[in-house]
Amino acid sequence: MAIKTQKGTKDVLPEENAQWKKILDSAYKIFRQANFKRISTPIFEATELFQRGVGDSTDIVNKEMYSFDKNGHSLTLRPENTAGVVRAFLEHTMQRDIQPVKLWYFGPMFRYERPQAGRQRQFHQIGVEMFGSEDASADADCIYTAVKFFESVGLQNLSVELNSLGCNDCRDKFRAKLKALIEPHLDSLCEDCKKRFETNPLRILDCKNPDCKDVFEKNQILEKLSKLELCEECSNHYEKLKSYLDMLNVKYVENPFLVRGLDYYTRTVFEVKSENLGSQNAVCGGGRYDNLVETLGGPHVPAVGWAVGMERLYSLTEKVEEPKLDYFVVSDNIKEALKLANELRSKDKTAELDYSSRKFAKQIEKAGKISNYAVIVGENELEQGTLTVKNLNTFEQQTVNREEFLKSL
Ligand SMILES: [Zn+2]
Ligand SMILES: [Zn+2]
Repeated sequence: MAIKTQKGTKDVLPEENAQWKKILDSAYKIFRQANFKRISTPIFEATELFQRGVGDSTDIVNKEMYSFDKNGHSLTLRPENTAGVVRAFLEHTMQRDIQPVKLWYFGPMFRYERPQAGRQRQFHQIGVEMFGSEDASADADCIYTAVKFFESVGLQNLSVELNSLGCNDCRDKFRAKLKALIEPHLDSLCEDCKKRFETNPLRILDCKNPDCKDVFEKNQILEKLSKLELCEECSNHYEKLKSYLDMLNVKYVENPFLVRGLDYYTRTVFEVKSENLGSQNAVCGGGRYDNLVETLGGPHVPAVGWAVGMERLYSLTEKVEEPKLDYFVVSDNIKEALKLANELRSKDKTAELDYSSRKFAKQIEKAGKISNYAVIVGENELEQGTLTVKNLNTFEQQTVNREEFLKSL
């Protein structure tokens, strides 16, 4: 039996590539404008990096990691790239470089999830990380860079959902308040939420289980919880961020229940939504993670970043077709065809040949499908040092001097 792709994985076919490339070209352009530099970290890392960096109590680490042992080391295919980028930041002592350090990445990530619409086990993310600034202007600039990037790939009606989770002090207070409100109803919550109650109660707000949502609604947990009460510093940070976004004309909605799935966020969390194709879609999420560098053994380095799924972007943007080739060399003399095709390529043109000496009519038929021009080199042309150039859209053709033609390109 033929071997097929594994569940939750997908080939990116050549005809999809022009659109992938367009998205990546936009990333290079927009991130360069804002002084982000690309970094590529390995696809696998020590399992411990994700346990510490993503958080022991997250679904990602508990249920979804591809881990394996090699020579007594536990390794894991990266489920996300922030932990890896922080590891690289520390390993290459980038805290000594010019600050802030602004990085972006693109590559495959791996999560063992139940495959469903829009979720794959191997997927690709584009993301940015900015290290070394605590100021709200850094958060605003990161969010604005996301908006600019999405606009440049053609996403429309972008809006940002915004919240602040506060610092550790703020979160301790909020966590205590939440636990007090939830405790009387703990028995009615799902098994995951019961665990979360002990390990990471904030995540209970993220639960998608309808029974849990029911409990929250019936008992007006969210209303009672109201907004997270931020300390003065966190509150100032959040107000500044909003004023910067106003100034940059970024449309945002405050969502006090946005907590995001990862443990490491502090203060700012956000999601960017787009209204492409009729429905509202969260395309990207991110936030500030001022403690992560320390958690991973480094000094105190505040940071902020976001990530977006490439497959999601692909599904929300217009299909792009690869342009046809410039030239197709038609000849029954393979040696001459090989030579001419490469002379054309050396003039920065795209060119193909048939790698056969079959009938010209067959070669021209193929040329018409993939190329704008056929360059015909028959016996006559070879003798006279000429080429017959045929426009495959209008079928006009003319015979030209070989040398002059190549020079004119
Ligand atoms: Zn605070
Ligand atoms: Zn639940």
